[in-house]
Formats: sequence, structure tokens, C-alpha cells
Amino acid sequence: MVAHTSMFGILKRLRRRRLRRQPFPPAWRAIVERNLPFFARLSADDREELELLIMIFIAEKSFEGCGGQTIDDEVRVTIAGQACLLLLHRDTDVYPRLDVLLVYPTAVAVEREQSDGFIVSTGRRVHLGESWTRGMVILSWDHVLSGARNPDDGDNVTLHELAHQLDGEDGTMDGTPRLAAWARYSSWGAVLSDEYATLRSKLERGRRSDIDAYGATNEAEFFAVITEMFFEKPVSMRRRHPELYAELQAFFRQDPASWGGAADGSEAAGDPGATESARRKPRRKSRRTSKPKRRR
Ligand SMILES: [Zn+2]
Repeated sequence: MVAHTSMFGILKRLRRRRLRRQPFPPAWRAIVERNLPFFARLSADDREELELLIMIFIAEKSFEGCGGQTIDDEVRVTIAGQACLLLLHRDTDVYPRLDVLLVYPTAVAVEREQSDGFIVSTGRRVHLGESWTRGMVILSWDHVLSGARNPDDGDNVTLHELAHQLDGEDGTMDGTPRLAAWARYSSWGAVLSDEYATLRSKLERGRRSDIDAYGATNEAEFFAVITEMFFEKPVSMRRRHPELYAELQAFFRQDPASWGGAADGSEAAGDPGATESARRKPRRKSRRTSKPKRRR
């Protein structure tokens, strides 16, 4: 077993070394340009790093089409590009616990009654995605694509599900991924607990929050939801939740608020508070009715 594991490690290293020497396929770059608008906001160095991660992700993960979904390079690159955004700059492996991505054409309706220790759902729900502690992510292709092509709406099922995978790398999906240093855990715990409690308290009092209400489900969902927000609404997150933004900035080693491009509005636009809530309300409402318990 040990020999097998180390042999696998050697093969992995050799494969990655080979990939490092290969150019990013032009056909894949066309897919990136078409489906992943955030890519254009990154520096040239970041784009290069991300392209290598995409090649590794696609070489090492198995994509399986379900419900008639075809798996082609567009599916692989669009998913891998978003998944690997969460790895940029970080000294980490490429989702070592993730083996297979099941891709459905659209949301998956499932019947599930209770927790089995790994996944929790109740009743019949429509799943946009699901992330398992061991080995598997399930995604709805049309939600993957719409999430990718709208990088500023705070709604991205791929970032959400892959955030669960990062969270689970230390063995538990509990909203605290493995942090770079022990010293970081106390401030992470303090800031995230406080923001999570504030979100729950607001919702219990019938108030709205700029953080997706789904994040109040549990700490794991909170981490997944704020990851979506960090990459897709960084400017307003930094302004309205500076400590939370700082924790995620330290964890992801990225500062999406500085990317420029469209992002989620400039500082000059003023506080988005009421207008943002009003604009988002209809979409959020429909999401609440269709959005599943997405994991655990
Ligand atoms: Zn989730």
C-alpha cells in the first residue's frame, strides 16, 4: 500500500513536470475567453499559473456526464478554470481528495430524507450541485455555465462546491479549511463566528443581509457562500465586511477587490445597500425556492 502510494506520488510528479513544459492548448484558451470573463482581470503571471493548474486538474480528475450530459473540453475547461481559481497562489495540492466530477445537464431533482453522515438533505429538492467529503462533486452544467459567465453576481455553484472541497481537505467540512499557520485559526474562528452569528440573527429578525441567506444553514455553507461573495462581490464585501474580507484574502492569498474590470462596482458608486438588495431580491427569492441543501 505504501509502495503503491509512493509510486502514485512519483507518477503524479512526473506528469505535472511534463505538463509544465506543455503550452496551454489554444482551443482551451478560446473556451476560457468565452466562458470565464474573470480570467481577463488577472495579471499575466496569474493567468499563466491558472492555466497550468487547469491542465493538471483536467489530467487528474475524472469527469462523468450524467443524464445525457456530454463531457467535452468546454465542460472540462469551464469547470476546471473556476475550480482552480481557489488554488491560485496557495501552496497546496490540486484537490487531493477529489477524484470525480459528475456533471448533469441541469439541476438534479433528488429524493433524500435524512443525514447519512456525509450528506444531508430533506425531502425532494433541486440540486445545482453537491460536494462530498470523499472524492466527488456533482454539478449542473447550465448553472456552472451561467455562474461562470456572470462573474459579478455573487452566485457561482462551481466556486461554492469546490470551496466545500477545500473545507474538507482537513477531514471535516465544518467551515474551517486548513489554514497556513496555527496562529491564523483564532482570528479566523473569531471573525467567521461573529459574521455567521450576525447573519443568523439578522435573518431570525426578518432582516435582509448582503450575505446569501443560504450561508446561515451551517458553518460549512457559510464558508462556501462567502467564497462566492469574495470572488464575485469583493468590493462591497471589503467595504461592508472588512474583517471577513481580510480573513479570506489571507486564506486565498488573493485580493479580487483590486482586480479592476467590472467587479461589483467601484467605490465611487456609493454604498450599494438598498439598491443592491432591491436589485437582487427577485433573483434571490427564486433561488431560495429552488436552491438545494447542497451538501453534507
Ligand atoms: Zn453548499
